[in-house]
Amino acid sequence: PLTIKNLSKSFRGFTALRNVDLEVGDGEFLALLGPSGSGKTTLLRIMAGLEQPEAGSVIFDGEDFLAQSPRERRVGLVFQHYALFRHMTVADNIAFGLNVRPGKDRPSKSAIRERVAELLRLVQLEDLGKRYPAQLSGGQRQRVALARALAIQPRLLLLDEPFGALDAKVRRELRRWLRHIHDETGVTTVFVTHDQEEALDLADRVAILKDGHIEQVDTPLDLYQHPSSAFVHDFLGGAV
Ligand code: ATP
Repeated sequence: PLTIKNLSKSFRGFTALRNVDLEVGDGEFLALLGPSGSGKTTLLRIMAGLEQPEAGSVIFDGEDFLAQSPRERRVGLVFQHYALFRHMTVADNIAFGLNVRPGKDRPSKSAIRERVAELLRLVQLEDLGKRYPAQLSGGQRQRVALARALAIQPRLLLLDEPFGALDAKVRRELRRWLRHIHDETGVTTVFVTHDQEEALDLADRVAILKDGHIEQVDTPLDLYQHPSSAFVHDFLGGAV
């Protein structure tokens, strides 16, 4: 499991996170939900090791995540604005994380080819391996970004509004599909969104953030039936 204890982070005197405690179980799909500026992205970036907190700890399977190198953390990341390499084919984008492994950890060329084919099947883009990102739809690009994140067999998959730039219909399709992929791979997943419906529909549990702290973390049903504050009640009120 991933255990976050008493985490605080500020930017030049502004407190973005204060005293955050959170546990994500093995194989769990957890959504971080909250209004703009509530600290979701900051929390995710700390989990990814992209940002250091002032105080608190991030422990993954008993290891101090904050002290580990990116290679040791082995986190898969997908952002809203897919950072695919434009000059690389889809297949090369997916293989990227495997190719940059040092010496003895690097798989053979044929193992990489096989793994890429397997991932293309998983994200249902079998026929598009030779295309370039510019030749894909927005939804297809996000599927490639997800395949690339999964290629390294991450211990933790972190997604920050991955469908934020897509239209409502594609968002709903990808939502169902992401849940399917999660169930296939069993990878522990944290998903940032400000969309109530998306969080409640996708996640096993939802952590609701407000002004840099967690108001409540519970299953979607418990959040509905037992909101711990008027804020949670009102915030979820928009999602029916
Ligand atoms: P959104 O849904 O709009 O992305 P969020 O919940 O993800 O919001 P964060 O991006 O985590 O919120 O930001 C939390 C607060 O910290 C915001 O008020 C933001 O302005 C501030 N903040 C985040 N990163 C920085 C930074 N690098 N420098 C200064 N302030 C920052």
